[in-house]
Amino acid sequence: MEVIKRTRVLIVGSGGNGISCAVLLQNGGIDDITIITKHSDFGGCWLQNRYPGCALDGGIMGYQFGYALSPHWGATHASWDEVTAYMQKTAADHGLYEKTDFETELLEAEWLDDENAWKVTTDRGIYLAEFLVPVTGFLEEPVIPTFPGQDDFKGRIFHSSMWPEGYTGEGDRIAVVGAGSSALQIVPALQPLAKQIYMFQRTPNHVIPLNKRDYTAEEREQFHADPSTMVKLRTDMIAFGDDIWTQVLLGQDGAKNAEVQARSLQYLDERVKDPALKDMLRPDHTFGCKRMGASDDFYESLQNDNVELIPEAAASVGPNTIISKSGKSVEVDAIVLATGFVFGGSILHHIKRRDGVTVGEYQDGHPRAYKSVSVAQCPNMFLIGGAGPNGQIWLGLGPGEIVPNYIVHAIRYMDANGIRSMEVKETAELKWKSECDAVLSVGPTVIGGCVNYSQDSKGYNKAAWPGTLGSMSDAMNNLIVEDYDQVKRGVSTEALETIA
Ligand SMILES: Cc1cc2nc3c(=O)[nH]c(=O)nc-3n(C[C@H](O)[C@H](O)[C@H](O)COP(=O)(O)OP(=O)(O)OC[C@H]3O[C@@H](n4cnc5c(N)ncnc54)[C@H](O)[C@@H]3O)c2cc1C
Repeated sequence: MEVIKRTRVLIVGSGGNGISCAVLLQNGGIDDITIITKHSDFGGCWLQNRYPGCALDGGIMGYQFGYALSPHWGATHASWDEVTAYMQKTAADHGLYEKTDFETELLEAEWLDDENAWKVTTDRGIYLAEFLVPVTGFLEEPVIPTFPGQDDFKGRIFHSSMWPEGYTGEGDRIAVVGAGSSALQIVPALQPLAKQIYMFQRTPNHVIPLNKRDYTAEEREQFHADPSTMVKLRTDMIAFGDDIWTQVLLGQDGAKNAEVQARSLQYLDERVKDPALKDMLRPDHTFGCKRMGASDDFYESLQNDNVELIPEAAASVGPNTIISKSGKSVEVDAIVLATGFVFGGSILHHIKRRDGVTVGEYQDGHPRAYKSVSVAQCPNMFLIGGAGPNGQIWLGLGPGEIVPNYIVHAIRYMDANGIRSMEVKETAELKWKSECDAVLSVGPTVIGGCVNYSQDSKGYNKAAWPGTLGSMSDAMNNLIVEDYDQVKRGVSTEALETIA
């Protein structure tokens, strides 16, 4: 076996959460780290998604890294290129470029007991790592539908995350397929230059105002002069976000959910004049069933003469046309597939348990990980964020700043006690998942009357962390070693089966 690198910790992913993981492990005294990533630079989803209008739909004061606050933001909601540049600067400031192998994709990972290491096969060769930390993203793997007749289409057709460099849509007739968060940003950005836009909407979604604004010169001066102003804004935003997440989006307070839903419908009523268009845009699912949209200009842009909402799925494509499910055909020069992502991607189908079966295959459509982090029969592996079932929370970069503490606790515990590998007991994993399912199954993502990316094939929520950021921190500061099988140095992992 030819190994291109041996490393103590192998982090897979160079998005915001991968960056935080590396920084916080280094801060915890764990320096023997390698990052691999299939991308050519840091930034993750922000490097990948470059469509016109791509920007944060949550405030930057909460979204930026808590350990690297920047006073340079021009507005409350930063664009993709600003976020990417900030992430790349943070990575450079912490010496991460020297530790990263770019354009290196994990294809398969398996535990080698003899080596006490994960053998990670990539498209560039093999890595051996004592600890494997997949941080491969929430919304990283695009859903790309194919339509009958598509091969004969004479124009451009592409997914929103694969935007052709420099394409502005000027003078074109464009179909935007989808009505999720990306479409909400793409339609207003293309509308001023496009000849015509047709938006194909299968299901309308709740939309709330974004309330984006530029920071004033005084505010920016204050961020520079007194960074504690930013800390305060971040703290307030986290308290607010945690309340909305648990009460409204996890459905723990029905009255609050109904109140927020009524406000979003009122926003629709106020912003859209034509009753027929209003009807097409009115969702019939509970607020929070799908990820809600946030926009100041989406409703306005739909009411321009060069935009038409087609309240149906796109079904087929002709040489110059796209045709809806009921047969409405429109001529277009370009088709933008704003069709979203497979939540969490397929990483668990590339990681083998000790018994040789991939985690994805073994878990058979009901993905689970103890505390969203540890998987049975996968020693010394820690999942972060989207890679981990139920690792998602309202603040997309939250897990990257919280979960690494757990890894530091675990590695310190192992070093102090002569333990070479730790793997979570399946009983603990199943217990945690059933508690998690119980919390989430009363919420809108499960019973809100829609199809969404959080649902697994058994109907459970595979995505959401079942509590606040604070509860995630508590869980990550509490390493319950009894929930893990531990193998001392000099002992084979096979002893685990013998004991069982
Ligand atoms: C368009 C868009 C807008 C968003 N807006 C917001 C927002 O406003 N607020 C919010 O909180 N969240 C938002 N999100 C969610 C976003 O996913 C998270 O906020 C966060 O950026 C995720 O960071 P990450 O590091 O976990 O994953 P990503 O940024 O997706 O990075 C994943 C990394 O894993 C690597 N990778 C994946 N598979 C492999 C493999 N097999 N081998 C090697 N490398 C691999 C990729 O190369 C990439 O570097 C948005 C997502 C998208 C797509």
